[in-house]
Amino acid sequence: MPDTYDAVVIGGGVIGAATLFHLARLGCRRALLLERGDIAGGSTALSSGIVRTHYSVAPNVAIARASLRMFEDFAGLLDDPEADAGLVRSGYLIVAPPGGASAVVRQSVAMQRGMGIECGLLDRADALARHPWLHLDDIDAIGFEAEAGFADPYLVTTGFARAARRLGAEVRTGTAVTGLLREGDRITGVQTDAGPIHAGAVLSAVNVWSRAAAAWAGIDIPFGITVHHIFFLMADAAYTSDLPVLKDLASPARLYMRPQGGTLMVGSGLDGTETTDPDTPQVEADTDALLDEAAQAAERLPAFAEGRLLRSWSGLYDTTPDWNPVLGRVPGLDGIQVAFGFSGHGFKLSPMIGRMLAQSLLGQEPDLPLHPYRITRYAEGEPLVGAYGTGAVS
Ligand SMILES: Cc1cc2nc3c(=O)[nH]c(=O)nc-3n(C[C@H](O)[C@H](O)[C@H](O)COP(=O)(O)OP(=O)(O)OC[C@H]3O[C@@H](n4cnc5c(N)ncnc54)[C@H](O)[C@@H]3O)c2cc1C
Repeated sequence: MPDTYDAVVIGGGVIGAATLFHLARLGCRRALLLERGDIAGGSTALSSGIVRTHYSVAPNVAIARASLRMFEDFAGLLDDPEADAGLVRSGYLIVAPPGGASAVVRQSVAMQRGMGIECGLLDRADALARHPWLHLDDIDAIGFEAEAGFADPYLVTTGFARAARRLGAEVRTGTAVTGLLREGDRITGVQTDAGPIHAGAVLSAVNVWSRAAAAWAGIDIPFGITVHHIFFLMADAAYTSDLPVLKDLASPARLYMRPQGGTLMVGSGLDGTETTDPDTPQVEADTDALLDEAAQAAERLPAFAEGRLLRSWSGLYDTTPDWNPVLGRVPGLDGIQVAFGFSGHGFKLSPMIGRMLAQSLLGQEPDLPLHPYRITRYAEGEPLVGAYGTGAVS
C-alpha cells in the first residue's frame, strides 16, 4: 500500500520548508516534504539573504512586508525561543542617478509609504550620516528603508523544517520525486525513488528543476535559468554590519551590496547568463567581469578602490519573463499547485508565500491574493512587470 498524505511538498528549499511549516501550523494533519538532497541545499544555500520591502510591484511590497514581520518575530512564529532568522536590520538604501530610475525610486517609496511602510527619501547629507563610506556626487534619488537588512537563509529554512516536524509534519530527505500520480485531470500523488505516495494536494517547489516537474505534469512553463555571481571584497577597515544594504542603480551592473563579516558582499543586478543545466550552480567566474564590477563597487564606496577580492560563488535563478514568481493552481489540472520563478528575490518573500500557498493547498482563501502570480498572466497579457523592468529589484 502506498503512503497517503493530505499534502505533499516537493523541494526542501526555503519555499518548500516555509509552506510545510504553515501547513502544519494551519492544522494539516498529514503533511510531508520530499527533498532529494538535504534541506536548504539548493539555491537557498547560495542566497545573499537580503530582505527589504522596496519594490515597484505593489503585491510584492505587501508580501515582503508580511514576511519581514515573520522574520522579525521568527522565534514567536515558530514557537521556539531558540529559533533565529539571523535578521540584521541594517537598513536598505537604494540610490539612482538623474532620469528614469530616479523617478521609479521616488514612485516606489511613495507607494510604500501609502501602504504604511516606514521609509522615505534622504538627502545626501542624511544618507552620508547613515553610511559615511558612500560617494554620492552622481546620485539624484536616495530611498531608505530602516527596517530592512539581511537574514540567514540556512537558519530560516532549517528553522521552518524543524518547527514543522515538531508540529507533526514529516520531512524525508534523500528522497527524489520522479513523477506524478495521475487520474484523468487530477494529480493524486507523487512517484518517488522509494515508491508512490498518495496526496490530497501536491506543491511543486523545486526552483530551477521546475522544467522536470512541468514535464511530469505535461504543461509548458514560462521559465528560464540564469547564472549569477557574487563576490566579497575587503578594505583596510572592517565593513561593519550596521552599514545598510545598498542597491546602486547608477552602476552599469546595477550592483547590490551588503556587509558580511567585515567584508563587502557584491552582486550584479543584471539579467545573468542563461543556462539549461539546473544541476551546476557553480559556473566558472568571468574574472574580467568580476574585476569590472569590483571597480564599479569602488566608484560608490571608494574605500574599496584597493580592495582585495576574497572569494566568490555563483548560483542559479529560476527566472520568469516578468521576473516575478508563478504561484498557485495550474488550469486544467487539479490536485497540484506550483511555486517557481522567484527570479532572485524569493528569500525575502518566503515566509508569507509559504503561508499563502499552505492556505491555498488546504482550500482556504490566502491572506493576500495569489491571483497576480497566476501562471496564465502571460497568455492573458497581464505580466507583473515592475517599473524597474527586468531584474530582481522588480
Ligand atoms: C546567488 C543568489 C543570490 C540571491 N540573493 C537573494 C537575496 O538577497 N534576497 C532574496 O530574497 N532572494 C535571493 N535569492 C533568491 C532566493 O535565494 C531564492 O529565490 C530561494 O532561495 C529559492 O528557494 P526555493 O525553495 O524555491 O528553491 P531551492 O532552495 O533551490 O530549493 C529547491 C529544492 O528542490 C529540491 N528538488 C529538486 N528536484 C527535486 C525532486 N525531483 N525531488 C525532490 N526534491 C527536489 C532541490 O534539491 C532543492 O533543495 C538569491 C539567489 C541566488 C542564487
